[in-house]
Amino acid sequence: MRIVIAGGGISGLSLAYWLTENTVRQLDVTVLEAEGRPGGKIWTDRAEGYLCESGVNGFLDNKPRSLELASRVSLEAIRGDEAAKKRFINSGGELHRLPESPPAFFKSSLMSLPGKLRIMIEPFISRGTKDDETLADFARRRLGKEAFEKLIDPMASGIYAGDPEDMSLQSCFPRIHEIEQTYGSLIKGMFKIMAERKTKVGAGPGGTLASFREGMQSMTDKLALVLGGRVRLNSGVISVERAGEGFKIHLSDGTTVEADVAVLAVPAYRAADVLRGLDASISKLLGEIQYPAVSVVCAGFKKEKFKGLRNLDGFGYLVPAREGRRILGTVFDSNVYPGRAPEGYALLRTMVGGARASSIAMLEDGKLLDTVMAELGDIAGIRAEPDFVRLYRHEQAIPQYAVGHPGRLGALDEALNKHRGLYITGNAFGGIGFNDCIENSYKLAIRILEETE
Ligand SMILES: Cc1cc2nc3c(=O)[nH]c(=O)nc-3n(C[C@H](O)[C@H](O)[C@H](O)COP(=O)(O)OP(=O)(O)OC[C@H]3O[C@@H](n4cnc5c(N)ncnc54)[C@H](O)[C@@H]3O)c2cc1C
Repeated sequence: MRIVIAGGGISGLSLAYWLTENTVRQLDVTVLEAEGRPGGKIWTDRAEGYLCESGVNGFLDNKPRSLELASRVSLEAIRGDEAAKKRFINSGGELHRLPESPPAFFKSSLMSLPGKLRIMIEPFISRGTKDDETLADFARRRLGKEAFEKLIDPMASGIYAGDPEDMSLQSCFPRIHEIEQTYGSLIKGMFKIMAERKTKVGAGPGGTLASFREGMQSMTDKLALVLGGRVRLNSGVISVERAGEGFKIHLSDGTTVEADVAVLAVPAYRAADVLRGLDASISKLLGEIQYPAVSVVCAGFKKEKFKGLRNLDGFGYLVPAREGRRILGTVFDSNVYPGRAPEGYALLRTMVGGARASSIAMLEDGKLLDTVMAELGDIAGIRAEPDFVRLYRHEQAIPQYAVGHPGRLGALDEALNKHRGLYITGNAFGGIGFNDCIENSYKLAIRILEETE
């Protein structure tokens, strides 16, 4: 059976791996990747002794499938330093440590007393009744306006570079939605889960941040190496056409590949183009998923330039929208992972753009750098010239799961059921993270094997 996967990011590569390694069946699997390198949004750049992640920076180690895949290709994950646990929020012009425990929460200077008391009445707020709700509405309803603005809004920027006024709670934070629906309250739910499991549970995803010594690209490089000739680079798919029981896949170089099973693991807007001729309704649903621009600015500094500055010893900070700043946040990468900067130097990685500020991400180089340097000065007090700079652009960066996303996925599944042998995967659907992509590819591999028996 010939299985052709369009897209050589982590979704497409891990799918090809699970398909070839998890069965005794003889499958002819091909990955067609448009670019001259595999990896997609995973790209590790090495320059002047720095290791810069232009896109994906890490994953939480609480999802065993990613660690399993890493160990299967002989890669060992490294964990973020203890310093990575110390996170900050920029509020009122200052960096406040994000509280990690109830006592720290009560002592924290981040929230006002009325804001803290408002969170405490959360167990008395009745359960939501809407099918899908924006993250902002949910957070204001359950936790109050201040908690939304200072705690939830920056989390939405940090993970999705999203706008919480549009984001679907159910799709973006399914676990939080589930806790509310099951227990009627987040606080009650957490206490009940802790009692049941006899462990500490937080509202967040849990786990420790992890990567690889040589960066995230080690994973996609290793997968491509193991898959060998099955990965064809510079092979952009332009359309998929039905041919009998199978498909004819047309490439940008004018050639055609035949397949019994066709999988699209490309961004949703690209899958929309590829499928336009085959099914306009699928194409329309895919085209509705927005991808705002994000730029990543890596700046290296001699550490002695930070003398006298406070709060530069942790993971970094996120910036809530109410601060009116022009960056989403900064990760102090060299505090988190070893080997990210030369000895005596620090590497800072600042994210710019997202759903609320896409145009800032696309400023020309000089203006983008000036913007980031001005913000590093105002927020973290760093006024020194950087010793090293790299800019990375993602014009269409992260898919946004807007309110109504669950309904869109349902409609997509229904429409795809009419096309036997055609599948769509990638980070636009069941989770945007590296872990989600690997888990969803694993499940899809099993489904394809079952449906083609
Ligand atoms: C700036 C940034 C930072 C991020 N940081 C994190 C992070 O720290 N942790 C995390 O878990 N997630 C992070 N993410 C999310 C990340 O995108 C996903 O985790 C994951 O890498 C997505 O993989 P994918 O394979 O689904 O998509 P992609 O990586 O987008 O791969 C799609 C592939 O399809 C190829 N392609 C496109 N069109 C065609 C075509 N017509 N024919 C053939 N091939 C085509 C592309 O070239 C690409 O290689 C980040 C994303 C961005 C943009």
